[in-house]
This record gives sequence, C-alpha cells and structure tokens, in this order.
Amino acid sequence: MTTRSRIEWTESTWNPVVGCTKVSPGCKHCYAEVMARRLQAMGVPGYEAGFKKVKVLPHRLAEPLQRSKSTLYFVNSMSDLFHKDVPDAFIDQVFQTMSAAHWHTFQVLTKRAERLAAFTAGREIPANIWLGVSVENRRHGVPRIAQLKKVPAVTRFLSVEPLLEDVGELDLEGIQWVIVGGESGHGARPMHPAWVDSIQRQCEAQRVAFFFKQWGAFGADGVRRSKKANGRDLRGRVYDEMPAHA
Ligand code: SF4
Repeated sequence: MTTRSRIEWTESTWNPVVGCTKVSPGCKHCYAEVMARRLQAMGVPGYEAGFKKVKVLPHRLAEPLQRSKSTLYFVNSMSDLFHKDVPDAFIDQVFQTMSAAHWHTFQVLTKRAERLAAFTAGREIPANIWLGVSVENRRHGVPRIAQLKKVPAVTRFLSVEPLLEDVGELDLEGIQWVIVGGESGHGARPMHPAWVDSIQRQCEAQRVAFFFKQWGAFGADGVRRSKKANGRDLRGRVYDEMPAHA
C-alpha cells in the first residue's frame, strides 16, 4: 500500500523497506522511529520486530505499478534504502520498479551517501528518479554533497532538515533542488533564521530551486509554538520551488 503523505514536498510515500539505525545527529529525533513504535504497538504487519530491525518487503515492490495516476513518491519514509542491511539485489528491484513506473516521479533520500554513489556508479538513472542526501550539519551532512555529485542522476537534491547549524558556503553545482526545514516534536532543536537565509541566498545566486518546508517547533522569532502556528513563511514569502516533474 502506498500512502498519501502530509510531507509538504511530496504526494505519497512508498515503503518497500522498513526499519533503520541512526547514523548522525539528524537522526536524533527520527520521525520514522516514533511512527514505527506506534505501528508496532498497533500490531501493523512489517513492524513486529521494531524499528532497528531492517526488513525488506518484496510484496510491496509492485505497488507503484498498480497506480495509474502520475504521482510524486517519497521512497522509504520509514527507512533508508541504502542501509547496509538492504541487499544490493533488493535495491536493484526497487530501481527496476521505479524505471518501469515511468509515469511517476520517485524521490530517494539517504544519509548513506557513500553507498548511494557506489551503487549508482556506471548505471543509467532514468529522469523520473530523483536522488538526494540529508545535510543537517557541517561535519556529517556537507560531505554527503560530494558523494551525491558523483551520482549519474538528472535531478539531485539536498534535504537540509533538520537544519542544526550554519552549514556555511555550499558549492551547489550539479544540484537541482534544496529543501530546508526545522525540527518539530518533543526535544526539537531550534533553527536560526540566519542559517536558512544563507542557504536561500546561495540557492538564488546559484539558480537552484529552493523549498522552505517549515520552521518546526521554533518560529523565526525563536519562540516555541506548534509547527502549524510557526508556518512556512520566510521573510514574508513562501518558497515552494521544485524541479519540473510529470
Ligand atoms: S537515516 Fe533516516 S530513517 Fe534512518 S534513523 Fe536516520 S533519520 Fe531515521
């Protein structure tokens, strides 16, 4: 089953893999972990072994092929496709589905950028598959950009979320899209407006589509409110640019 998503930059989620383990500070309040705990408590199939047990779900492989309406899919909102416990042969099958379902657009996002680069080396990636990495800070996130640039995709993107510090000057050559967002939920870490401004200005200067997803738990004024109350407005403007898709 694919699921209609409330994530602002996609339409649906498709989870042929569930479960993951944490790799960097951006994982600290992992939404998928919280959700998996709930689903496990509800007895939902696929989540019996808990979040830390990575599970491939071959019966979900064909799901996008069964939907005829062109859809923007976020692949593996409940996992990381390039986790070491997902076999190459299974990742291959996920890519085969995405290639065959050419009327959809697939957004694959990972924190395992080295494996993404190694897996895609020498392959042809169809234009309907967008490949991206998470960039939450300088130490763990920024080095992933160099790995992403090696990837032979038409559309490469950065998910700068949760933005945890000023990530400095970014060379965005070869990057088509940047999403920025703050953290929400229990224990959320604040995001400083100057960090967001810096990335937005760099995107504008380097002609990269910029999408501001949300402030999260802390507004532009640093006050804690609901995510909804803090909104998506950056200096009086909503930024929801994204690359063209079917
Ligand atoms: S890589 Fe993604 S899914 Fe995996 S633990 Fe980190 S935030 Fe969660």
